[in-house]
Amino acid sequence: MLSASCTGRRALVFTCPAPKPRIWSKTHLQQRLGNSRSTFSSESASTSPSREARMGDAGEGAITLQEWQGWGTTSPVPNMVMEIIEDLKGLEKDLDAHMSFGGLGGKLKGNLRIQEDKKHRATYQALGDSEKKLQFYAARQIACRLLGSRGYLCQKCWLPMEDCMCSKVTSCSLWPGIKFWLYMHPKDFLRQNNTGKILWQVFGVEAANLCLFGIPEHEEIMWNSFKLAGKGKVWCLYPNKSAVLKSVQNAFGQEPIAKYEITQEKTKEDKTLNFILIDGTWSNSAAMFRRLQDQAKSVWGDEDLPCISLTLSASAMHKLRPQPSWDRTCTAAAAAGLLSELQLLPQFNSTGLDKQVEAVEDALSVLLEALTTRRLRMGRSITRKVRHTGNIR
Ligand SMILES: [Zn+2]
Repeated sequence: MLSASCTGRRALVFTCPAPKPRIWSKTHLQQRLGNSRSTFSSESASTSPSREARMGDAGEGAITLQEWQGWGTTSPVPNMVMEIIEDLKGLEKDLDAHMSFGGLGGKLKGNLRIQEDKKHRATYQALGDSEKKLQFYAARQIACRLLGSRGYLCQKCWLPMEDCMCSKVTSCSLWPGIKFWLYMHPKDFLRQNNTGKILWQVFGVEAANLCLFGIPEHEEIMWNSFKLAGKGKVWCLYPNKSAVLKSVQNAFGQEPIAKYEITQEKTKEDKTLNFILIDGTWSNSAAMFRRLQDQAKSVWGDEDLPCISLTLSASAMHKLRPQPSWDRTCTAAAAAGLLSELQLLPQFNSTGLDKQVEAVEDALSVLLEALTTRRLRMGRSITRKVRHTGNIR
């Protein structure tokens, strides 16, 4: 279903029943939580205060480059996102109604929602091919989330401003031989409990790049970088048994140590390892991975996108790091897990990856604390399970 946000219902191809397990949580989290639903995601439209879209400012609600990039990207404002915002503004004017949003992800409310729903469904149906439909779907999700979050969420940490955690996050440089690409589903964009955002909060937007699924401007930037890097320098961290998977040890353990003993500058130019982290629910991630594979085929021929998996269990991680650590139930923890495994290999010994792992884990703790505090303040219960594994994405 697609009922939640300002997407239409059932009309679209890309379905998303909520809540869904994260791809990193498929084994661990489901086992531990069973069928219980984590409570962080239950902040529904009915219990959240609605908010007016801030449309009266300069440009009458149009999104500026500065505002767009403030959410964690270096790209230009996607054209279709801009067009949809224009359309929404036009509709608001025609109906003489105010846009208001509520709940997670900026759900459009009231009469305008009904009208908009009809309109966007007609637009969607009229689109010829599935690629255009995906792009429209993605752009519409993004546009609604942008309008619904404007003036409400902190742009850096994606939490409501009163719960901003930014002052508690310590940034850290990622070793320049590594670059992360957060391939994020539009439904995870501007979600409070998303953890992918932590990676660029800690490492910066150049080291941890946001790439929104179905947004051509973002995907083009990512694939242009991959073309330059070459297939041997691109890895997708994805626990898919049907794909050809290599462990970190298999993928990098056999390489000559001397390979990484080069100047940092040269490393950045020639040898950067690009890691794609799929940031979506389990079911959405299948479509996201397929799209990556299709794009890889069009760029590099028939071969599959190289994939690696993490091998160390959470308990093994704990032994390596005595203090309480996160397991791999969320995107940022998966990134930390990858860095931890690389750190064990001789050629990465001197790259300081352990410090970078620590920085991510610290930021994750800050996020969990902020979400817990918010929840308690709003009078919602925190179960023990949720406190530890949560619905942290
Ligand atoms: Zn903040």
